[in-house]
Amino acid sequence: MNVHEYQAKEIFGRHGIHVLEGRVVRTAAEARQAAAALGGPVVVKAQVHTGGRGKAGGIKLASGPEEAEAKATDILKLSIKGFPVRKLLVTPAVEIEHEYYVGAILDREDGLPLMMVSGEGGIDIEEVAAKTPEKIHKLHFDPDHGLRAFQARELAHKIEPNGRQALGIATLLVKLSKAFLAAGASLAEINPLVRCADGTFLALDAKLNLDDSEVALRKDLEALRDPDGSGGHTDKAREFGLSYIPLEGDIGCVVNGAGLAMATMDLVKHFGGDPANFLDIGGSSSPAKVVAALEILTADKHVRVILFNIFGGITRCDHVAEGIVAALEQTHIELPIVVRLTGTNEGRGREILEESGAAIFAGTMEEAVQKAVALAAGTEVKG
Ligand code: GDP
Ligand code: MN
Repeated sequence: MNVHEYQAKEIFGRHGIHVLEGRVVRTAAEARQAAAALGGPVVVKAQVHTGGRGKAGGIKLASGPEEAEAKATDILKLSIKGFPVRKLLVTPAVEIEHEYYVGAILDREDGLPLMMVSGEGGIDIEEVAAKTPEKIHKLHFDPDHGLRAFQARELAHKIEPNGRQALGIATLLVKLSKAFLAAGASLAEINPLVRCADGTFLALDAKLNLDDSEVALRKDLEALRDPDGSGGHTDKAREFGLSYIPLEGDIGCVVNGAGLAMATMDLVKHFGGDPANFLDIGGSSSPAKVVAALEILTADKHVRVILFNIFGGITRCDHVAEGIVAALEQTHIELPIVVRLTGTNEGRGREILEESGAAIFAGTMEEAVQKAVALAAGTEVKG
C-alpha cells in the first residue's frame, strides 16, 4: 500500500528525521490560507500515489499566498499518471545546496533490507541506476537492528566528502532504516534529501510503500489508507475480496483459487501467450464479484481477451455465468470471453451462457487457454 508524502514525512519525523512543517489542503482557497499561515515563499505539492510529480507539473514554487492559490488551482486540475490530484501539501520553500538520494528497500533476492544512497539526488534514480550505476552505493542491513552506525558512515562517506556533513547523513540513514523497519515497509525513500545553507539535512520529499500483509495486521497502518481509493484497481479488488495483481500481458484471467490461477498463467505461457494479470475471485463468488472482476480487467487497455477458468466446488458455475451475463449487460464489454466452467451446477452455467451468447465455451482447461491465446494473437476471429 502506498501512502502520501505528507504521511510518510509524519512517520519519518517521528523517527527524528528533519522534515518541514506542512499543511494538507483540498482547495485553492485553503492553499492560500496555508501559505499565509506559513509565511514566506512556499511549495505547493500534489499528493498522489505516484512519483515524478515535479516533471508532471505537480510541484510548484509560490512567492506568497496569492501565487499559492493560483498554482494550487492549476495543480488541482491535473491527473498525474492516471491519479487525479485531490490533495495538496503546502510547505515552506527552502534553498537547496545539494540534493542526495537515500532509500531503504526490501531486497527480495537476498532476503534482506538494503540501504541505497547516491550523491545525485532529485532526479529519477532509475535513470542514474541505468546510466551511471557506479554512482549508487548499497549495503544490506540487519532486519532487527537496522543499519549500524559504522555502516551508515561507510555509505555516507561515499556520497559526501566533507567529514562533518557525512556524519549528518550517517545519522539520518540510521533513522531511516529504523523508520523502514518499524513501518513494515517495502520501500522508504527520501529523494531529494537536501543539504541546506546552514549545513542541516532535510527530507524534502518522502516516499513510503507499506507491505500489504503488515497493513492487514496493524490498525495504525490501515488508518493511513487514502479513502479516495486513489490506489485504483488494486483497491477496488480488495473491496470485493479479490486478489488482483496486474501484469504486462494481454490475456485477462479470472480464476477461482490461487493455485488454479497460477496453473492457468503457466498454461497461458506454455501456449505462447502472456497473462495480463493474476486474479483470484476466491470461493463462494457472487455475481457482484464477477462484475467487479470484469470491470477491473476491462479497465486495463492492454487486455485483448478474457479467460475464465472456474472450478466449481463452493463456487457455483451458474453464479459465475450469471455474473458474466450481468457484467456484459452493465458494462458493454466488446472483448471476446472464453470460459471453462466445471464442477457444481456446470450444466446450468453453460445453459445460461449459451442462452445469452455471451461467451465462447471450452470443455477443458487446455482448450480454453489455447483459444484465448489465439484470440489475443489475432489468429482467430471472435465467435
Ligand atoms: P517528485 O518529483 O514527485 O519526486 O517530487 P519532489 O518532492 O521530489 O520535488 C521535485 C523537485 O522539486 C525536487 O527535486 C526539488 O528540486 C524541487 N523542490 C521541491 N521542493 C523544493 C523547495 O522547497 N525549494 C526548491 N528550491 N526546490 C524544491
Ligand atoms: Mn522526489
